[in-house]
Amino acid sequence: MRVGVIGAGQLGRMLALAGYPLALGFRFLDSSADSPGGQIAPIVTGAFDDADCIARLAAGCDVVTYEFENVPVTALARIPTSVPCHPPVEALRVSQDRLYEKELFSRLGIVTPAYRSVETLRELEIAVAAIGLPAMLKTRRLGYDGRGQRCLRRAADLAPAFAALGGVPLILEGFVRFDREVSIVGARSTAGETRAYPLAENIHGDGILRETRAPFKRPALQRAAERHLGRLFDHFGYAGVLTIEFFVERGRLVANEMAPRVHNSAHWTIEGAATSQFENHLRAILGWPLGDTRALGHAAMVNLIGTMPDRDALLALPDVHLHVYGKTARTGRKLGHCTLVAATARDRDRLLRRVQRRLRP
Ligand code: AMP
Repeated sequence: MRVGVIGAGQLGRMLALAGYPLALGFRFLDSSADSPGGQIAPIVTGAFDDADCIARLAAGCDVVTYEFENVPVTALARIPTSVPCHPPVEALRVSQDRLYEKELFSRLGIVTPAYRSVETLRELEIAVAAIGLPAMLKTRRLGYDGRGQRCLRRAADLAPAFAALGGVPLILEGFVRFDREVSIVGARSTAGETRAYPLAENIHGDGILRETRAPFKRPALQRAAERHLGRLFDHFGYAGVLTIEFFVERGRLVANEMAPRVHNSAHWTIEGAATSQFENHLRAILGWPLGDTRALGHAAMVNLIGTMPDRDALLALPDVHLHVYGKTARTGRKLGHCTLVAATARDRDRLLRRVQRRLRP
């Protein structure tokens, strides 16, 4: 069986690595042959929405999926109807626009920060008058890893932030004074079976995920997060892995965004859970039974961003697993990650500190 993957970044690469033991074949579509996915599987090089490229990607595939949120919705429409594509295109469309996302969350009873759509400086002033400061001004589309957003602290910040981001549709969000950031990752198969991983706690710096620790054991929050996931699964008639990122504010979940794909905050599942998110995504889109999502201990994942640390120093540590994506180093770029798993949260945190010491230049 063969899976076509739109996008050949590290997520696609890890999907293929999870599929090989199940005798799955892969073909990628991306702009560069020397991409993390292209280094380990056949690749069609070209634009995501090029009809000919999509046809060559899908030819002979049993299913097509995507590993990148900014795939144009029009690209999925070009996939021949004989080849199923999961997750559904509607989930991709909603996830690409922070306003659509928040509107859907609100409709499904999932709490979000206060928000207003903003197109002009006047609308920004009106939105700030309604929501108050501080607040986050974000582009509705194409923002990721902290790009396309500004924090507004005082009235004087409005005009410069609008000048920097305006010209495209924006959203103003109330600033959430969160205690923590967490995410839930779960899968629903084409047969309707669902599973969710334990909540993970995420630490961001400059808008980029730096570190994840899991499981984040709070039974009430776990139940609430799984309920939210279930509502989105039902709404979309979903198949595949789905992620929701939340703020934890005064003991409750406030939804920030969703991603209709495997997610950086669940990389820990490769070694830290009974079945990885990548394997479960494949099982889900192929309609196979889903794997157990239970944590095997206490895991942490640290992203390797911008420069690669000393490999041997990391590999010399026990219970540390290194994943390198095959990308050239560039400031702010995710080049790899390492995961560590321990029997207790305390041992995990101790090992995490040793890893962090080795990551400092
Ligand atoms: P995002 O691109 O929406 O995931 O935002 C990146 C990071 O910016 C988040 O993980 C938070 O740390 C911070 N952030 C985004 N939105 C808000 C908000 N409304 N209130 C407080 N912090 C935020």
